[in-house]
Order: sequence, then C-alpha cells, then structure tokens
Amino acid sequence: MSKVFFIPVNEGEDPSSISKKLKLLIDKSGMVDQFSKKEYVALKTHFGEEGNKTFIHPVLVKTVIDKLKQKSIYPFLTETSTLYRGQRSNAVDHIALAYRHGFGFDKMGVPIIMADGLFGDSEISIPINGKHYKEVNIAAEIGKVHGLVVLSHFKGHIETGFGGALKNIGMGLSSRRGKLVQHSVMSPEIIRSKCTGCGICIKWCPQNTITIEEGRAYIHKENCIGCGECLAVCQFGAVKFDWGRESGDLQEMIAEHAAGVINAVNGRVFYINFIINVTRDCDCLGKSEIVAEDVGLVAGDNIVAVEKASYDLFERHHKKPIQEFTYPRIDPLIQIRHAVSIGLGSMEYDLVEIS
Ligand code: SF4
Ligand code: SF4
Repeated sequence: MSKVFFIPVNEGEDPSSISKKLKLLIDKSGMVDQFSKKEYVALKTHFGEEGNKTFIHPVLVKTVIDKLKQKSIYPFLTETSTLYRGQRSNAVDHIALAYRHGFGFDKMGVPIIMADGLFGDSEISIPINGKHYKEVNIAAEIGKVHGLVVLSHFKGHIETGFGGALKNIGMGLSSRRGKLVQHSVMSPEIIRSKCTGCGICIKWCPQNTITIEEGRAYIHKENCIGCGECLAVCQFGAVKFDWGRESGDLQEMIAEHAAGVINAVNGRVFYINFIINVTRDCDCLGKSEIVAEDVGLVAGDNIVAVEKASYDLFERHHKKPIQEFTYPRIDPLIQIRHAVSIGLGSMEYDLVEIS
C-alpha cells in the first residue's frame, strides 16, 4: 500500500512558516531519495495567470528546489503553453509572467525550461493502455528528464470539479495537440435568456469563434475546441456544458494523459499537493476567489494515493467534499477512479500524519 505523508497548515499561515513545514514533509517523505546526484529533475508547477494570486507561493517552490540542490540534483522549473489567450499561450509571454510572479532565476536559482517549446507543439507520443487512447502526445522535454516533482495547488475546477496532480500533469504537461484532443469532448451552448451580450467571452476565446448576434453571444461550433474559457469567464451563467457526460470523458482523458507523462519518466515522479488558498476555479483565471480554509500539505510517490488522500483530508477537515464548495454538479472522483482502472495506483493508502 502506498504511503502518503500529511502535515497540517493553519488558516492564514504565512509562506515562511509553511516553508518550515514543507522542509519537514520533504525529509519525512524521502522525496530527495527518489533521485540521484546529477540527475535532471523537472519541477512542474503553475505560475498563475496574470492577476491570479493563489498559485503556489515562490517561497515554497524554492524550498523544494533547495532540497534537491542540497543533494547535487539538477532541478529546473517547467511548464507548457495554454490553449487559450492570456499571458501563458507561448513560451516568451509565459516566462515573462513567471518572472513577474516571482519565479525568475534571481529568486529561484534555477531556470525555467518550457517542456513543449516556443509554441506548445514540441511533443512526443507515449504508448499507454487506456480506454480512450493507445498513445498520447505530451511535452517533448519530459521524455528527456530523469524524474519529475509535481507541485499541485489543490483547488476547484470548472470542468473537473477539482484539480490536483492528475490535472496538473495530465493537461499541464500535454502538448498543444494533447490538450486539444482532451478538450474536444466539451461542447458549450449559450443560454440566450441569460446572456447580456457583454462580449467578455469573445476576448478570451482562443479560436475567435464567438460573435454577437442580435445582442447575444453565438458560438460557431465548427471551430470550437472545447477549452471551456467562455464558461470560466462568463459572469452571468450564460454558458453551459453537459456536465455529466462531458466532464466524465474529460476527466478520463486527463488521467490517460497523466499516465503518458508517468510512463515517459519510467514512473519516477514525486507529488506534493498544497491544500491551501483553495479557490473555486483554477489558477488559469486572473482571479482568486478563496472558498475554503487551508488544510495542509500532502506528499507521496503515487499519484492516485496522493490525490485520494488530498480529497479525503479536505473532506475530513471541512465535513463536506470539495465539490460542495466548487461545482456540485460534477463528480470529481471520476478522474481518480479512472486512474485506478488504467493501473496508476490504488485508492487505498497508508496515511502518515506529521505533527
Ligand atoms: S460572457 Fe456570458 S454574458 Fe457575456 S457575451 Fe459571453 S456568454 Fe454572453
Ligand atoms: S467557444 Fe468557448 S469552449 Fe469553444 S473555443 Fe471558444 S472559449 Fe473555448
């Protein structure tokens, strides 16, 4: 049974205090022992969209980097380009934003290497044994590293109910093509009676496929890639998805792309989930609506165990599951159950609580 390590965090605890707990968690969980001297280890985190303030704090990311460097491991930060418009849709803008958010070389002491190249199309195909795919397209540089440390902000997500490590690598380390095939199951509709014609969704749509017709938004379906940005930015609830079918398929596809990432590094991945600053939406949005108290940090070397433990620890603390705080119509455990069904791990785990 996989071991999962947990250290609680108090509500509103400052990053320097959390950093001390993170050091303890890293030592107790044996994270550094997963890797050897002079190995190249990519740290996958999320630098936050412009305006977002709830991404994992740079002080905490630096804590992990320093622990790896103490053992003469070669860590670097990595990310991929987004499908949608914003400040992270190509490597140049993305790295500049990361710098503004405190992830520059001057603060981190390691470089940022975009895993999918300048425009997100640098990719490799990895065989998997999935229900939807027999191979998936992921960011090319992941196929070259010795290992991966995945730092995930545990929070809500408009398409999957919650986003943790599966979402962070399944979508976040896919190439542009990998992201497109996952999002292709999502097919938004405009509720005309709710649409005010404000045009915000038009500004965010990466495909330029929304126009205003007779004062209301209209989606030209032939070009829609199902990225969900219109759903995320509409403040009037005027965009709807088929939550049951579409979210379920998307969650399964995310789990299968996560399998590709794990296969690409021969399973040498360590995960830390940060259940702090829990927001309704992911850090891809330029807003930060915190909806629940901080819970703590969760670490381990099995993605299913870490995700399920994070979900359970959140529910134990709050007496209700995360989707009650985010998107109650979505069953967010689909992604974890599917990860089990394709052999990524077991939902049974041995919890080690660090006080
Ligand atoms: S953001 Fe919402 S309300 Fe505004 S135009 Fe788009 S669908 Fe309509
Ligand atoms: S219409 Fe919505 S889901 Fe489709 S591409 Fe545009 S923003 Fe994405």
